Amino acid sequence: MSNKLQAIRGMNDILPQDICYWQLLEKTAQQLFSRYGFGEIRLPLLEKTELFARSIGVSTDIVEKEMYTFDDRNGDSLTLRPEGTASVVRAGIERGLLHNKISKLWYSGPMFRHERPQKGRYRQFHQIGAECFGLPGPAIDAELIMLTGQLWDELGITAVELQVNTLGDSDSRVAYRSALVEYLQDYRDQLDDDSQRRLLTNPLRILDSKNSDTQALLANAPSLLDSVDAESSNHFQALQIMLDAQGMSYKVNDRLVRGLDYYNRTVFEWVTDQLGAQGTVCAGGRYDGLVEQLGGRATPAVGFAMGEERLVELLKQQRAPEPLTHVQFIYLDDSALLPALALAQACRAQLHNMRVEIDHQSGNPGKKLNRADKAGVDIALIIGGDEVDNQTISVKFLRNSKPQQQIAQDQLIEFLRPFSHAVSTAQNGPDDQNND
Ligand code: ATP
Ligand code: MG
Repeated sequence: MSNKLQAIRGMNDILPQDICYWQLLEKTAQQLFSRYGFGEIRLPLLEKTELFARSIGVSTDIVEKEMYTFDDRNGDSLTLRPEGTASVVRAGIERGLLHNKISKLWYSGPMFRHERPQKGRYRQFHQIGAECFGLPGPAIDAELIMLTGQLWDELGITAVELQVNTLGDSDSRVAYRSALVEYLQDYRDQLDDDSQRRLLTNPLRILDSKNSDTQALLANAPSLLDSVDAESSNHFQALQIMLDAQGMSYKVNDRLVRGLDYYNRTVFEWVTDQLGAQGTVCAGGRYDGLVEQLGGRATPAVGFAMGEERLVELLKQQRAPEPLTHVQFIYLDDSALLPALALAQACRAQLHNMRVEIDHQSGNPGKKLNRADKAGVDIALIIGGDEVDNQTISVKFLRNSKPQQQIAQDQLIEFLRPFSHAVSTAQNGPDDQNND
């Protein structure tokens, strides 16, 4: 009988060996948002359940069956946030961030949905998202899309395709809804169970079905674009002209809808074929009605959210990690400990792009060097009795065959400075190095 404690299904630990990809993604996004004038907002993980019911929509997958909802000790119904937009809008209204101003906000963090866990789909997952409030025109839609495209470029992510569509205004959605229902009525029995149910509750969501038979039936369904109102159509044309002018390639996908109820006009997704079935890495669109729906003054809005797990997976496939040059001090007797500690501290203070450790385990010099080698150390710095007496340090490169050399302790920082960066170049020696 095993009573080992285990994590909750669909909730992952992110381990140190993977963290470099998460940090790279988050750091790059954070810097890019600043450059585009977005401010970060940090929001609670818990909100009143009502917020999500009123924003995401009661006949969506999320509200119907995916939320982690419970009563707290006061009997209030609370929900672990399944997405970020509702909270941003709630905070925006509550803190006066939206009224009479343009507000550009971004957020990141864990989201919770009780879905069937599979590759790229988890119960706790992470999103980075951005929202812009106060601008009704298509230019900001284009800017947001350009921001995401630039993020892929700066991360070195390739093989992602941009798909765009327009949902029109609410009248166009009503018109399209009837046309779609009329078409699908004839195939009712061939639809998957979820889609049969959605035919009554939320037929547009059928377009979003992951069932391949249902998708096949949709091939000849009426196009959303035929029902779109003139103003939305102009908005969409203008967006495409801007994307074209920026040289962005994209595909108009007239089947693209969002899982959430609150979208209108522009919707977009970045999709990859490198991740199997869960290929959408970023999804967004315009939601001009939501602020008013949640009790604020009518405020146009547009935003997106990216799935960090899926992006990290792409980064892992497409980009080798770039660890820092790893330096290890090895002291051979007690008299060498204090100089080793002092020198290691000096390195950590002055050489920021370097991993500096001290081997505090026992063993003879050969064993210590072996251990350093196994741990992936690039440069071993050895201090024994002789080195203490002479104020020197012995340097051994573990990733190339350069002979061991002795240098003066007061020369150590300058000696190491050329190696203070990522490892890929550190193995060639100091001659062709850039400085810290
Ligand atoms: P799907 O139709 O795949 O369920 P969704 O419409 O529910 O997607 P959004 O709510 O728009 O997705 O979330 C934006 C992005 O967050 C998705 O494109 C995806 O990259 C990521 N994401 C959503 N749900 C999950 C999940 N359960 N696990 C991992 N990533 C997710
Ligand atoms: Mg979903």
